[in-house]
Amino acid sequence: MSVIHILPEAVANKIAAGEVVERPSSVVKELLENSLDAGAGRVEIALESGGKRLIRITDDGCGMSHDDALLAFERHATSKIRSADDLFAISTLGFRGEALPSIAAVSRLTLETRHASESAGTRLEIAGGKLRDVKEQAWAQGTRIEVRDLFFNTPARRKFLKSESTELGHIATLVTHYALAHPERSFRLNSFSNEILNVSPVANSRERVYQVMGKQLLEQLVDIAPLERRMPITTPPDEDEESAEASAVVRVSGFVSRPEIQKLNRNSIFFFVNRRLVRDRLILHAITEAYRNILPGNVFPVALIFLEIPAAEVDVNVHPSKTEVRFRNSGFIHDFVRDSIRQGLVAAQPVAAFPMPKVAPSKRREEDEAEVAEKLSEETPTMRGPAPSGTGRGPEPRGPAIPAPGFSRLDAVGFRLSAPQPAPTTGSLPLGKAALEMYAPPPPTESAQRKEAASEQSPDVLAGGSGISEFPADLQPLGQVQNSFIVATNAAGLWIIDQHVAHERVLFEHHLRMRREKRVEGQRLLMPIIVELTPEQQAAFQDIAAELSSNGFEVEPFGQRTVAIKTAPADVRAEEAERLLVEILDGVGKEARAISIESLRLKIGASVACHAAIKINMPLERSKMQWLLRELARTDCPMTCPHGRPTVLRYGLKEIQKAFKRI
Ligand code: ADP
Ligand code: MG
Repeated sequence: MSVIHILPEAVANKIAAGEVVERPSSVVKELLENSLDAGAGRVEIALESGGKRLIRITDDGCGMSHDDALLAFERHATSKIRSADDLFAISTLGFRGEALPSIAAVSRLTLETRHASESAGTRLEIAGGKLRDVKEQAWAQGTRIEVRDLFFNTPARRKFLKSESTELGHIATLVTHYALAHPERSFRLNSFSNEILNVSPVANSRERVYQVMGKQLLEQLVDIAPLERRMPITTPPDEDEESAEASAVVRVSGFVSRPEIQKLNRNSIFFFVNRRLVRDRLILHAITEAYRNILPGNVFPVALIFLEIPAAEVDVNVHPSKTEVRFRNSGFIHDFVRDSIRQGLVAAQPVAAFPMPKVAPSKRREEDEAEVAEKLSEETPTMRGPAPSGTGRGPEPRGPAIPAPGFSRLDAVGFRLSAPQPAPTTGSLPLGKAALEMYAPPPPTESAQRKEAASEQSPDVLAGGSGISEFPADLQPLGQVQNSFIVATNAAGLWIIDQHVAHERVLFEHHLRMRREKRVEGQRLLMPIIVELTPEQQAAFQDIAAELSSNGFEVEPFGQRTVAIKTAPADVRAEEAERLLVEILDGVGKEARAISIESLRLKIGASVACHAAIKINMPLERSKMQWLLRELARTDCPMTCPHGRPTVLRYGLKEIQKAFKRI
């Protein structure tokens, strides 16, 4: 029985052209996708030398008949689409019919396979694209493909391969993430005799995250319970008017990290569309938006987001490696993803503790952290000793671990009487529900379900029970450290407040409130300040001139490349006004106009607050400190500044007593 056919030229020409075999991980990706498309319940991958010497992938999928096995190595031979119309609704991972011939052209490849309709299996050998041998052989149903000596006949490309461990790292990350997207299937990845991943089928992605990443990481993630929204179909392909009214159901689910997890790059953000791993700027933006004012601008969360959408609403025929997609209704998808994450964060209400004094951090904990780092890092190979086989759930992973460069530790090893540098990596960021809701659209439904999930998750983050749920109103200031940090006490312990960021928070919320009520006041400058703008700044200025004036600015064009600031927001001193304006314009320019009015307002508010706030190295009178602490306590989100940095550290009474060995 033959299912593979060669696509007519007209169809083949419509397929995004380009090379897909760049490195061992791209071979693994194509072969793995083929196995999944073949309906495999079990996929096993074995590697040697980071895949450079050997990649062997075995599946229990549908297999291929003798004729199909031969046909599969022709260009544009596929069983997955037939006509150009099929390109508009691709439900399989593959469809280009190019992977097998491309891989076979640059390696020594062996295929062993059998389709259920045939009694004998087929074995064939191809080297550098030339068929060397075909024969019958006994074979269980399914397919095994062995790819040896990648790029043996193209030395120039071989030279560009990275070290074994780098290539292995890429493959490990890839397989791990396909495993996360397909919890109902089993995956195994071995490098020489090292077992890197071994997971058996489980009921849902939560259990799969547990298998793959361990309890520790799972506890640091917030569930995004499956949410559904109806999406209006804007451009139904080739349909008449009737269906213009139609809508499609889109589903988002997944996991995102609590704010205290801060990664230095985007490598831990994974986004799946119909279980296909893709990179998408739009979604990265939606995720950043969801964390706005929760995480500082230069750090990133961990995120696994699964989007399910009717195949006709997403175009995967954009890039040869199929890692980019185009949504027909991208605005809807962006907002839905952003809102779902926001809602998950609000429901979980992560409340975090500040750096715990840890007299002797347990070794186990350190290992766990290193492991989390290890598993999340794209650049680091996830190598570890053999894991127990069997259920695959087994005890938590063990073995040598390499902390990833981008990983920041969850909590500090000891309490320090100075602000940790850099602050975001040791302070933990609590998350005020009110602050989140202030900017998030009202959550649609399902809060009860998520509350339950949240209550299961929160406690452990508050290790030692000393997390702060609220900023106290009864703090008494004692003095300042270096004229920068206010030291204060109450019955709960000793507190240190960064005076600049605390004031920033107070001013930020005040400014936004005034802006909402259209009551932001400006202060006329004695002398207008003339500012010279770059062309980008000028373009940004034209875009946001109206919003600037609603924020207390009076700025007018003055000559060709210059503007004159006549009035600045009331709290901002004259000498800060120029820097503030330039900062806002640069910020807008960088976001390439994609910025919404809502986030523009937040940005301006944060900038104004920053420039108007009390600076560090500034002596404060006691009454001023008292005022600041009181005002901070009245804000919606007192624990972080508008840029997401922590405002306070606390040394809890219990920790103090413990440190003095009184308890
Ligand atoms: P595509 O996946 O785009 O169709 P490929 O070159 O990757 O193109 O594969 C060609 C065809 O070979 C597939 O359409 C499929 O029918 C068949 N095939 C490839 N790998 C497998 C596999 N592991 N099990 C069963 N069939 C396979
Ligand atoms: Mg394929």
